[in-house]
Amino acid sequence: MKSYKELLIISGKGGSGKTSITAALAAYAKNNLRTVLADCDVDAADLNLVIPGRLDKRADFYSGFVAITGDDCVGCGKCGELCPFDAIKIIEGKPAISENGCEGCGICEDHCPAGSIKLVEALCGQIFLTKTDKGMLSHARLGVGGENSGKLVSAVRKQAQEIAVKSQAELIISDGPPGIGCPVIASITDTDVALVVTEPTLSGLHDLERVIRLTKHFGVKILVCINKCDINPDVKDRISDFCRNNGGELIGNIRYSEDFTRAQNDRCSVLELADCEIFGEIIFVCENVLMKTMN
Ligand code: SF4
Ligand code: SF4
Repeated sequence: MKSYKELLIISGKGGSGKTSITAALAAYAKNNLRTVLADCDVDAADLNLVIPGRLDKRADFYSGFVAITGDDCVGCGKCGELCPFDAIKIIEGKPAISENGCEGCGICEDHCPAGSIKLVEALCGQIFLTKTDKGMLSHARLGVGGENSGKLVSAVRKQAQEIAVKSQAELIISDGPPGIGCPVIASITDTDVALVVTEPTLSGLHDLERVIRLTKHFGVKILVCINKCDINPDVKDRISDFCRNNGGELIGNIRYSEDFTRAQNDRCSVLELADCEIFGEIIFVCENVLMKTMN
């Protein structure tokens, strides 16, 4: 059995305040718990912008395979004819392989009469470990055209879990990807608690429904926080009703505030601002979320 809990912060779409609330939770937790952080939003990793630190480790991340050609090519053009993904163009008698188009199926390697094509591991991005004042932060950058973001998310989580075991941490706080796609599934599997950050708009409600459906499927405890709760009281009430009837526990509301933007500009969490107008609401949410995660 693992010795730490995993708390994942997700939202139906980007821009809901998910990363800001993750940073606030990290700032709150550091006074009470040994914590490790993970940024699983590898397509747009920005947790380290509000939780800066010193880079401790960097490694290339490889996943899947890509074909490359060698010097022995005799220019027969067979690989270009056979590639089922149209990833090889024969230019002036030589094959040019599109790294992004190649699916690593190996057909070209198998049929090249000169043995000139080889499959090599594909470089998909980089994975980092950064030391911050709120705990070690595991994060990554997906390479240009990188499509294995689910696998990169798993690698970010694995690194965070290893650090948690080594440092006897009690909690991993992860900033999850938006939406309900493959990276979210990679983030949510075996997580203990998911905090869904939503906002009271019709699209926010619709996204929340989809995220809760997905999260329930994985048997994860679901908490919900409504950010910008004062922009539409009717939809806020509909979100509360939806949560009550669908197994999402509403743990707090946060008013619309420019303090989130101010904190981003200052590269800190809202809790670290000198005069934060939503301080009380944020503390209430953090306290509630951590209590329900750790118990
Ligand atoms: S099949 Fe092999 S020899 Fe023929 S063009 Fe492709 S790489 Fe060159
Ligand atoms: S490995 Fe498959 S997809 Fe990639 S270039 Fe060769 S035939 Fe095309």
